[in-house]
Amino acid sequence: MPTESPAKTRLRLRVTAAAESALRGGHPWLFAKSIREENREGSVGELAVAYDRQNRFLAIGLFDPASPIRMRVLHASKPVTIDGEWWRSRLRAALERRDGLFDAATTGYRCIHGENDGWPGLVLDRYGSAFVLKLYTAAWLPRLEEVCSLVREELKPGQLVLRLSRNIRETAADFGCADGQLLSCAGVRERGSAGVGTAATAAPPTPSLPHSLTPDSAPPRGTVTFLESALRFEADIVRGQKTGFFLDQRENRRRVGALAAGRDVLNAFSFSGGFSLYAARGGARSVMDLDISAHALEAARRNFALNATDPSVARCRHETVRADAFEWIAEQKRSRYDLVILDPPSLAKRETERAGAIRAYAKLVEGGIRVLRAGGVLVAASCSAHVTADEFFGAVREIGAGSGRRFEELAATSHPPDHPATFPEAHYLKCIYLRDGVQP
Ligand code: SAH
Repeated sequence: MPTESPAKTRLRLRVTAAAESALRGGHPWLFAKSIREENREGSVGELAVAYDRQNRFLAIGLFDPASPIRMRVLHASKPVTIDGEWWRSRLRAALERRDGLFDAATTGYRCIHGENDGWPGLVLDRYGSAFVLKLYTAAWLPRLEEVCSLVREELKPGQLVLRLSRNIRETAADFGCADGQLLSCAGVRERGSAGVGTAATAAPPTPSLPHSLTPDSAPPRGTVTFLESALRFEADIVRGQKTGFFLDQRENRRRVGALAAGRDVLNAFSFSGGFSLYAARGGARSVMDLDISAHALEAARRNFALNATDPSVARCRHETVRADAFEWIAEQKRSRYDLVILDPPSLAKRETERAGAIRAYAKLVEGGIRVLRAGGVLVAASCSAHVTADEFFGAVREIGAGSGRRFEELAATSHPPDHPATFPEAHYLKCIYLRDGVQP
């Protein structure tokens, strides 16, 4: 990690009483409005130290003068020297936390989950031999070179791709970084290469496919393939949503696989068909993928093709429909499905959108229940951090109870172990399973 310039005095922050107790309680964010005093102006990514009212050390973290989250905590309670070895042990701790979670049948998972692994605003995902480093704060930009070296040394990635959240792309350009850029594994950053081409991995040779499973499009350049629970998926790690795949839904996908035998499945907000492949392998009779994105549905078709050697996948009828899922579901008149999965994108990006999001979830669930046959299972997920699990589960249960049908709650789940949630705002993912009590 870059040594701070010795000429500069350490950036010192005095914080409010409320922030003092939040930091003592292990919260990883110090907000700009909680800073009472700064000894000087700070620059992006430099180390800052927060002190309490008695001038005692509270926490050290990464400073960002442009973000309302002004400092992201790296270490709290006792002073510590943050040097190369400290970073290395922090990376190893994150990797050790995942030891034993995945066998050779799952080569796609999260290695570093931001604040929850002590790497605030930074995500590292693995897809086979390819790794994706995604930054959600500009504070990492001055340290990118060092983070890359560390990842290279510890993980020996075949490819390392940089992804940037939308809000930091402009600042990143000043550091010579671009979203989707391939970070060279030879020690030098390949500026402006945008990763395309070089990041591409040829899809594995596809066995002879039944006609209906022949993919109708080639994967975009930059796409890699990996395994999840022995299913093969592609991920567009250069341009895809998140880092290319929704790794956080793995455990829910596994549950869906176990519930799918003999069922007609609607996978709303399907993305690349993650839930659908598990359902198909689990013996679903048919799967309908519904998404607004044509690219997502093309990827879903290719993912079915990639798994066509599995007899259950080959037998399952796979259809896709491109539409706004809210409208499409509202328009359906008949109960046609025995398993309905609702996994919309975040409906509340900010606190003010919370009430509207809960109403939207309720409406969606109402529609989901309408298209669900007697004895069917409804799976409803939310990834809105601003909607709590209690609020979401409460809304779904209420709609279920008011539907005139009797539902048995099979499960209510939260985060998978490679996406730990260690502070309140980190709890974004929740999913509830309701089974209609009438046996078909
Ligand atoms: N269940 C998926 C992840 C879903 S992500 C998985 O396991 O991989 C949310 C998806 O919703 C994205 O693919 C996005 O294209 C789609 N989407 C967003 N708004 C939509 C809308 N109004 N109607 C249908 N799909 C939508």
